[in-house]
Amino acid sequence: MIHRDVYVARREAGAIVHAHSPFATSLACLRRDIPAFHYMIARFGGDTLRCASYATFGTQALSDAALAAMAQRNACLLANHGMLVFGRNLDQALDLAVELEALCEQYWRACQLGEPVLLDAREMATVLEKFAHYGQQS
Ligand SMILES: [Zn+2]
Repeated sequence: MIHRDVYVARREAGAIVHAHSPFATSLACLRRDIPAFHYMIARFGGDTLRCASYATFGTQALSDAALAAMAQRNACLLANHGMLVFGRNLDQALDLAVELEALCEQYWRACQLGEPVLLDAREMATVLEKFAHYGQQS
C-alpha cells in the first residue's frame, strides 16, 4: 500500500527500499526526527529526516503518515517499524538506504558521547543547493 501510494504521489520515485535495519529502526522507536547533525542529511531533501507517526503495518494510515513525513524528502523513518527510501532507480534507492542506515548509526554513536552540534539552516541551505547541482550532473 505504501509502495503504490509513493509511486502515485511522487512521480520522481522509480524504486523504493523499505527495511528494518538496526540503527534506523532503533531511532524510529524513539519517534524522533534526525536533525542536521551531518551535512549528508541533505541527501534526503531537507535539513531533517522525519519520523512518520505510528500506524499499523500495511494500513492506509501508515501510508498517509509516511507520505506526510516524506514531504519534500525522499526518505523517512517509520515509528516503531523501520525506514522507507525512494530513488530514481533501484541502484539509487539502495545507495540512499545504505547512507540512511550509516547516518542513523553515526547519530546514535554521537549521541552516546553527548549532544551533537547541529548545522544551522543557512549551512544546510548551502549544502542542499550543492546537492541539487550534483543531482543534475549524475
Ligand atoms: Zn516493514
